[in-house]
Amino acid sequence: MNDIVNKVQEKMGSLTDLMKGIWDDSLIEYLVHTPTTKDALMHLKYWAVNQANVLNFGRKLVSKVGLMGVKSILENNPWILYLLKSDTLVRRLAKGKTGRYHESICVLGEALHLGITELLEEMYFDPSRLVIIEDMLPPDLFQAMGLKVYNLESFGLFLPMLAPDSVLAYIDEAENAGVNPDSCSLPRATIGMVKKGHLPKGLAIVTSNLPCDSGMSAYSYYRRAFNLPIYHLDVPFNFYDERAEDFFVKDLKDMIAFLEQHTPGRMDWDKFREMCINRNRMLEVELELWDMLRVRPAPLAGEAIWLSHFWHYVVTPGKESSANYMKILADLAAANLEENTPATINENYRTLLWNAPFFQFIDIFNWAENNYGITILMDSLSYNHYEPIDVSTPESMLKGWGRVVMQGPMVRHNRGPAENYIDDLFRAYKQFDIDMVWVANHVGCKSSQSLNGMMREQCRAKGIPLLMLDYDLIDPRIVSHDSMLRQVEHFMDNVMKAKKLGQ
Ligand code: SF4
Repeated sequence: MNDIVNKVQEKMGSLTDLMKGIWDDSLIEYLVHTPTTKDALMHLKYWAVNQANVLNFGRKLVSKVGLMGVKSILENNPWILYLLKSDTLVRRLAKGKTGRYHESICVLGEALHLGITELLEEMYFDPSRLVIIEDMLPPDLFQAMGLKVYNLESFGLFLPMLAPDSVLAYIDEAENAGVNPDSCSLPRATIGMVKKGHLPKGLAIVTSNLPCDSGMSAYSYYRRAFNLPIYHLDVPFNFYDERAEDFFVKDLKDMIAFLEQHTPGRMDWDKFREMCINRNRMLEVELELWDMLRVRPAPLAGEAIWLSHFWHYVVTPGKESSANYMKILADLAAANLEENTPATINENYRTLLWNAPFFQFIDIFNWAENNYGITILMDSLSYNHYEPIDVSTPESMLKGWGRVVMQGPMVRHNRGPAENYIDDLFRAYKQFDIDMVWVANHVGCKSSQSLNGMMREQCRAKGIPLLMLDYDLIDPRIVSHDSMLRQVEHFMDNVMKAKKLGQ
């Protein structure tokens, strides 16, 4: 009898947890708790736009592949269902924010929804033009050739933002197949997805020797698994160098010739010029935004800076919409600045995040902001020294675009001499009037871990508070979310001598 009672209690307990989880993630709960009615209405407006966008995509998908086609896509790519959590992601990021800061997250949410549906269109609407590219390669050049593309590793980064456990089965799949469990979890998750056949095949693969050995070596597996022709771009070790740039332009020309041989894609230089112009526009707007971030307290912060850079520069560069979204963010920041309105009234500590953000626990930024008034103002994936692309000739465009690849996120800091990693950090520290540095110490990233000692020494010498926050890029089983929060609390308590807000 006791057993039955215990079981019923257990079931009731899990049901209560489930109901609580659904309520916590719901739109109604969010609207009830928004700081002002204006925020609630703003959120509702963007939510409606996003729903319309998703419905429109669903309609296009059905008319393109039919109902049976949709069924087959879902059966072969079950991870797509996680994308339905995009709304929840926006609410998680926006929670507690108000005014234009809140609006900036709504704008970002719209961009995410639009970008996701466009990516799915690329992946499934025209397999006769589909090419797989490595995540270090921006898709715009390939799109200028009239090709459809998807970045192979991008799902390993994006899905954990939506649901931290979304790629664990893929990581396990790769490990069970013999992949070294000490290696970076990103290539492991991607190998798992490919091994399970959960990604579309396409006509060819283009990859490079970036960003690290772990990512690069996985391509010998993908080549065999997909059984496709592959092109390897070769970025010189010292890439801040005219000779390296010329070498890479030649490599890019060979890559275009390879794609013209193996796919129906043909280089359209006018289209590419338009895309480069869009990139230039985006760069100009972002630099304006960065200038405004120097003001203390900053008029915008958090995901509106780092996630929007990641999304617009890495996932959807070259698109007019990306430049437009960046402009809206810069306008919101400018309006705040003009009125002397900070993004958050509690900007107590300005932080710089070095290394890839905590994709499986991005809520930590909101938590830190709400609990300590810590705002993340810049991160190494965003911080760059890009220059406008000279669009006068095909050669100059390839050179400018090649520079973007060679100085891509992670690459510009984890490749070449150690100065690339360290010097930029201190430059950004000064530029944004930072109070403390957080290093996202991904335990699987050997190249960045090897620089930790040097970083510690230099920060100590300069008197910069440094938090080495241990975590795994996309596997929350390695360092739990609780443990990550405790690391921040210990640091704030012991190093910054700071109490939580309201204590
Ligand atoms: S996180 Fe580090 S190890 Fe993983 S792919 Fe990026 S550079 Fe390589």
